[in-house]
Amino acid sequence: MNSRIELLRRSLPAKGLDAILVSNSYNRRYLTGFKAMETTLSATAGHVLVSDQAAYLLTNPIHAEQARAEVFGVEVLVYEREPYLAAANAARDAGVKRLGFEPESLTLTAFRALERAAGSNIELITAENAVEDLRARKDADEITLVHKAAEITDRAFVEVTSGLREGTTEAELAWQLEKTMRELGAEALAFDTVVGAGPNAALPHAIPSAKPIKAGEPVVIDMGARYEGYCADLTRTICIGQTGERFRRIYDIVLRAQLAAESAIQAGQTASEADAFARRVIDDAGFGAAFNHSLGHGVGLAVHEIPRVGKDSPAVLEEGMIVTVEPGIYIPGWGGVRIEDTVVIKDNGIEILSQAPKEVLPG
Ligand code: ZN
Ligand code: ZN
Repeated sequence: MNSRIELLRRSLPAKGLDAILVSNSYNRRYLTGFKAMETTLSATAGHVLVSDQAAYLLTNPIHAEQARAEVFGVEVLVYEREPYLAAANAARDAGVKRLGFEPESLTLTAFRALERAAGSNIELITAENAVEDLRARKDADEITLVHKAAEITDRAFVEVTSGLREGTTEAELAWQLEKTMRELGAEALAFDTVVGAGPNAALPHAIPSAKPIKAGEPVVIDMGARYEGYCADLTRTICIGQTGERFRRIYDIVLRAQLAAESAIQAGQTASEADAFARRVIDDAGFGAAFNHSLGHGVGLAVHEIPRVGKDSPAVLEEGMIVTVEPGIYIPGWGGVRIEDTVVIKDNGIEILSQAPKEVLPG
């Protein structure tokens, strides 16, 4: 039996649904083990249809063999051309009257095709986060995979930054980090590597450029490996050569904010309470406006997933959730500092998966 499908199935009546059509590729993988990912917004490698009796993976002939090899606990149905017609027909055969769908994972074109196929006897109902809510709490195997991704990420960070020289460009550094993660066993990147040096470090999601890295300036590196589908997310801020007084002062505030949060967060708190542990330190130091994003976010098959850990996040942290703790201070024209760990929420605290050192490099 596929327990994830079973949990989803049991959640349907409370949502007023007879069945749900799952189109998001992370959700599809989570439920069935099917690893295919869409390469464009309009393409689809398939859908999962779960009703109280049936569970299908509907896919096209190109993916049929892969699907049969990978999925468990669902029946594979292969359609020729019309995924939404196949989904609606399967739903109709299962006696479905109220079909949930994932509004964020269907283009308007896809939705209209589904609407036409559903006709007047199947009502389509938006079902936000039906699977994402299940994904938020990780089981032991998932935690092991994120841990492995974090280890690869940490090792690549240490290996590459320990030999870093002035004059290396942001793009060269990003490539070294990416190449090393792959060599150490990452199957892919969890996301595009961020390297921002000097003023570029003031952009939380700086795109690595041809700018050479100078001694004394902050360098924000945000990187993550993907391992068997699962992501790691790590940020460190380093400096080549002597650090200036301003760098040390801001770095110290961000690090204190992060450590304050990491020592206080535990299951049962709201995400906004967790955010406040770090934000308070930065506010008190007078840099509140310069911490312009949430403290963190869930990490799993997707690098950004439920729960968001922000100022106004009502989500309650539960044991087994994996989130990031990443306070930052950004000062336009000068640069910025962000320090990010990936952590597991426990009953009485957290387990920190990211182990890359937080000392700023020599200087
Ligand atoms: Zn990150
Ligand atoms: Zn992050």
